[in-house]
Amino acid sequence: MGKGAKKRSTTTKAEVEGAALDGKAAKKARKKREAAAEARADDAVEVRSWSQVLRPGPGFSLAELDPRSTPGFDGAKKDGEKVMAELQQRLSDLQERLYAESRGGGTRSVLLVIQGMDTSGKGGIMRHVVGAVDPQGVRITAFKAPSAEERRHPFLWRIRRALPGPGMIGVFDRSHYEDVLVVRVHDLVPPATWSRRYAQINRFEQGVVDDGTTIVKVMLHLSPEEQKSRLAERLSRGDKYWKYNPADLDERGRWADYMEAYRVALEKCSTDAAPWHVVPADRKWYARLAVTNLLLEALEGMDPQWPAADFDVEAERQRLELSP
Ligand code: AMP
Ligand code: MG
Repeated sequence: MGKGAKKRSTTTKAEVEGAALDGKAAKKARKKREAAAEARADDAVEVRSWSQVLRPGPGFSLAELDPRSTPGFDGAKKDGEKVMAELQQRLSDLQERLYAESRGGGTRSVLLVIQGMDTSGKGGIMRHVVGAVDPQGVRITAFKAPSAEERRHPFLWRIRRALPGPGMIGVFDRSHYEDVLVVRVHDLVPPATWSRRYAQINRFEQGVVDDGTTIVKVMLHLSPEEQKSRLAERLSRGDKYWKYNPADLDERGRWADYMEAYRVALEKCSTDAAPWHVVPADRKWYARLAVTNLLLEALEGMDPQWPAADFDVEAERQRLELSP
């Protein structure tokens, strides 16, 4: 009998087979099992904390993160889609709790910020992730180039007005980050102005968090190759023309400038209060899975509570009993 087999208190079929081998072979089989168990344990840790896996750490480089990769998830598309249904159910339950908590006087809320290049899948996130919860508890705001009125105010003015109220999940399809992305790439304001904005954004987000909002910031990280194929699809189908905007090609031409602007925003504005997450987005199913998990983790961390009844439950039961 091999040494390892003796140490174990329970014996599985595999171990009996392993024990039947002698010397080197048994040792090799044991090592293999141990390595497999270790790999499983690693996976479990990764899958539990998407936020940690997707948060850019020290030395993070956008250029080195493969947009086709699936960090934190080992499975293929069909596996991802299989778990989505269950995650969406959990998300929907937690959103209901958060909403109910606010009916009982709670003031907490969630803000999901989605940034990404054109065709990075922002719309799909709105439909597949946010669409899984009760529409009454969600407020989506898509930020376009500012209107004349918006331009008369500081850049955070329109953002403040779109913040989620108590119990709500606010979702930003683009955000105040455009004011250090498109604005920086196209010199829409002087450098002295946009360069001050990083600190302004950090202060603003800290205040939002202090007021009871959990912020989840996501950059959908797309490759230029995948963007090309998604744009080509928009140009090849009558039901996709509406999504195509000739100006998208001009933005595409500034890819490197955008990546530099994103790099700086990720670096300067990934705070403990409101960290950034970078989600590889070439595989739509993965990006949706990752964002769902990030949102779920945020809500689970908040642990929203059903409000206690503000009436005498027993008395009401008796009244109901006696009612015709
Ligand atoms: P889309 O999200 O594809 O519908 O496009 C919205 C457009 O509005 C994008 O080209 C953004 O860059 C642009 N946009 C959003 N916010 C700003 C801003 N603060 N300043 C200038 N352009 C913006
Ligand atoms: Mg667009």
